[in-house]
Amino acid sequence: MNRNEIDENLKWDLSLIYKSNEDFYLDFNKVKENISLIPSFKEKFLDNAETFLEFMKLIEDTCRKLEKMYQYTHLAVDVEPENNEIQNLYSQVLSLYDDYSQNTVFIDLTISKNPEKAKEVISSDNTKIYSKYINDILRSSSHLASDEVEDVIAKADSILNSPYETYSVFRPEFKPVNINGKEEFLNQETLSEFLKNPDENIRKQAYENLYGEYKKFGNVFASTLSGTIKRDVFYSKVHKFNSPLEASLFSDNVPKELFYKVIDMALNKYHYLLLDYVSLRKKIMNKDKLEIYDMNVPLAKEPDIKYSLNDAFDLIFEATKCFGEDYQKILEKARNERWIDYYTHTGKRQGAYSSGCYDTNPYILMSYLDDVKSIFTLIHELGHSVHSYYSSHNQPYILYDYKIFVAEVASTVNENLLMYTLLEKAKSKEEKAYLLYNQIFENITLIYRQPFFANFENILHEKASNNEGLSNHTITSLYGDLTKEYWGSDVNVTELSNYFCYAVPHFYYNYYVYKYTVGQCVSSVIASRIYNGNTEQKEKYLNFLKSGCTKDPIELLKDAGVNPLDDIIYDEAFKNFEKLLNDFKECL
Ligand SMILES: [Zn+2]
Repeated sequence: MNRNEIDENLKWDLSLIYKSNEDFYLDFNKVKENISLIPSFKEKFLDNAETFLEFMKLIEDTCRKLEKMYQYTHLAVDVEPENNEIQNLYSQVLSLYDDYSQNTVFIDLTISKNPEKAKEVISSDNTKIYSKYINDILRSSSHLASDEVEDVIAKADSILNSPYETYSVFRPEFKPVNINGKEEFLNQETLSEFLKNPDENIRKQAYENLYGEYKKFGNVFASTLSGTIKRDVFYSKVHKFNSPLEASLFSDNVPKELFYKVIDMALNKYHYLLLDYVSLRKKIMNKDKLEIYDMNVPLAKEPDIKYSLNDAFDLIFEATKCFGEDYQKILEKARNERWIDYYTHTGKRQGAYSSGCYDTNPYILMSYLDDVKSIFTLIHELGHSVHSYYSSHNQPYILYDYKIFVAEVASTVNENLLMYTLLEKAKSKEEKAYLLYNQIFENITLIYRQPFFANFENILHEKASNNEGLSNHTITSLYGDLTKEYWGSDVNVTELSNYFCYAVPHFYYNYYVYKYTVGQCVSSVIASRIYNGNTEQKEKYLNFLKSGCTKDPIELLKDAGVNPLDDIIYDEAFKNFEKLLNDFKECL
């Protein structure tokens, strides 16, 4: 289908951002003019509160317009990649961004070098809102190396990134999967479909063809992975951190304790629930021992139910009724003001996201199919959009943009509430079983799998910090040993599964994955408390949605009533998981 064949009401309305290209160019030219004024502030912007304020207003005006133009063009490009006019505007915005960045390098450096002056300018009433911004820069400055060293680091950056670049462009080709004499294409994406196949031979073939190839290039992947980990170690040392873990947690201002707690909860304290799930799978699949390629076979069938967009919104409104009228009004706005682009068509970007800035609505791109998964995606993205809407309407520009660390809370709380609503409404055991199984599977990915990955990643970093070599053999045998402990004795972990670690791009992202676990645990707790009528939790959560980045992520979560450093959060979250398991058993 082409875009012009889709009803206007089912497409987003970007004219709310700019009515015409003339409007766009008004902002474009203003930004150009602003950028030309920035250098004149270089020597004086910290001189006194008035000059500082004048400068910050100029920066804010520039950034807000840049972000607005970026939103307008990137959204349009995602649905109309063939439109040359839009492509042209888009590349003009990107080069303007470049211009802006080059002209503002001095800001952080000047603030870092003049802490006294910086503290002085934020001490007056009308500059107070810049305290967090300034203090964050000053906090980082204690980890800056000398100018000469920073200069060398900046120049070496692309060289240090080359192991990752090699990894991201190196795409092994996999032997196709043979199904009844017909050859089927195999890659990472199709693998996940093959692994759901009820025919064991197809799963085995797909698994072996794929990881066999990773094994063949084991030495290459060992080199790209160890190169990246050595890069992390190098950066942490030159920036005076005690470990790469500490360095990676610094920007979110998260203590190491949280990282280790997440691992400990999943792999020690509540590991028995994972083993319980594995033995249930063994029983349902009727096997003496499970193979790694058995672990993705669905344990419940998808009921044949279709959901129109109206059905979807009915369910979404019901699931979020507990938040009250104000929240629901924003959902109505999203629908009536056309923030959402629902259906997929030729050329449109796949998947789903929520994207906006301070001066636009938080738009949503969807690829809606009439199934239950699409409703989960829609309520997830609406969660992000309401969070953005609330933060931008309750905070000044400098404090509205929440961090990735807390972003997934707003979206997954909604998913959890939708699950409760759907379970209440389910008409058959089969329907219930399907919903519960999907939640269980998703939970395993988030609250067990990610800590397992985080632990592996951390051991590799520790080894590299101690100058231990990271050979293909060291990496894969470590991964194999940890995999055996993780799945327990009910799963046959073969030598080939040791090479799974080479297929996980997240190991190149410098301790990213533990955040998924924190997000899911916190959301599960918030949602179950609100669902069970805890009004204090509801109020705290709604305030959290309005708080943008006024505080560090952990402080925001503490205010929201879910301190991730407190064991209670994990006790509640894993108990919620146990309940899902027990309810699922009852449906069998
Ligand atoms: Zn999300």
